[in-house]
Amino acid sequence: MPDVVFPLDSTRSFTDQQIVGHNRWHPDIPAQVHVKPGDTFRLHCREWFDGAIVNDDSADDVRDAPLTTVHRLSGPIAVEGAEPGDLLIVDILDLGPIPQEMGPLAGQGWGYTGIFARANGGGFLTDRFPDAYKVIWDFHGHTATSRHVPHVAFTGIAHPGLMGTAPSAQLLERWNRREAALIATDPDRVPPLALPPEPDEAILATLEGDEFDRVAGEAARTAPPRENGGNQDIKNLTAGSRVFYPVFVDGANLSAGDLHFSQGDGEITFCGAIEMGGYLDLHVDLIKGGMETYGVAEHAIFMPGRTAPQYSEWLAFAGTSVTLDDEQRYLDPYLSYQRACLHAIDYLATFGYTPEQAYMILGAAPIEGRLSGVVDIPNACATVYLPTAIFDFPVTPSADGPHQIDPGTGVPRSSV
Ligand code: ZN
Repeated sequence: MPDVVFPLDSTRSFTDQQIVGHNRWHPDIPAQVHVKPGDTFRLHCREWFDGAIVNDDSADDVRDAPLTTVHRLSGPIAVEGAEPGDLLIVDILDLGPIPQEMGPLAGQGWGYTGIFARANGGGFLTDRFPDAYKVIWDFHGHTATSRHVPHVAFTGIAHPGLMGTAPSAQLLERWNRREAALIATDPDRVPPLALPPEPDEAILATLEGDEFDRVAGEAARTAPPRENGGNQDIKNLTAGSRVFYPVFVDGANLSAGDLHFSQGDGEITFCGAIEMGGYLDLHVDLIKGGMETYGVAEHAIFMPGRTAPQYSEWLAFAGTSVTLDDEQRYLDPYLSYQRACLHAIDYLATFGYTPEQAYMILGAAPIEGRLSGVVDIPNACATVYLPTAIFDFPVTPSADGPHQIDPGTGVPRSSV
């Protein structure tokens, strides 16, 4: 087993640990771990709400989810010799849930998927699903099943939802400027257009006093993916992946977290992956000056791992850039993917699933989302592919009509 350079004790909160990580991006959050190019090491990662979501049959905890507290990140990790302009090579050697015997936290034999209430974060289909909802998934080796979504079992596609390098002061300033400009176009929107820096609940490793206050007032939230990688939620960053991150500060200051047992493309319910805590084994190296050599001005490039679940038959649904009110939009792939997902949800409902259960399947199972056409004016075409083998009943259309399943009981809703 590689050296655990960032340990977490499951019986304590994220801020009550031997090494305290962070939940904002800023160049002045001090590195907590020091490694060398060529090193292999293990991080423990806490699920993104640090235990606020529990294994029960109520969605009240998702309804009240403390969004200013996310994401708990393990790091920053300084890599000796890394300088701005380098590419940091990060190999994901292995990852998985924490051993079950260690306690009741998500990642210890179970994980969760949720729909955020429109008033607290919303999601991809928040117009249709404005209320909080929660599904608990149980892990059996690499397979996930749920008492809340019967007749489904699938092989997970485990990956870190969030990994990235620290921004430079200049890059952070650009983030804050452009995101503030977007928020200013509709500052009262629910859910908000973007999230400005939020000192409340900021965790900044070992910073204290005035320096803490200054950094907390400037530091970027971790929700969006940006030039440093960050919360990309790329389901294919499985074990065996190699990522090349741009380096913006001395040491690169790599951080990671938000482990997912599984997720469909798009992580569409926002809390759409199967969230878990766990371990993450990494190997790092450097390509000196690699950003210029390979034209990587911004954004990580990566080679996906080869351990994705093996599914060979798919049922696919298409969507185009036309609203539910039949208004034509111009080549809007976001709308097209929404329509494709809504088609899939309506289809699965004919078998007996509630729309919420169907939405959760799309968020959590290893479904494929594709941008199939973006040039055929006026309609962009997006498609969503469901692996048929995840259902224990025939799910393709036939002359006999949809096989009726028992959708189960105890489906949790928030008591709004
Ligand atoms: Zn996540």
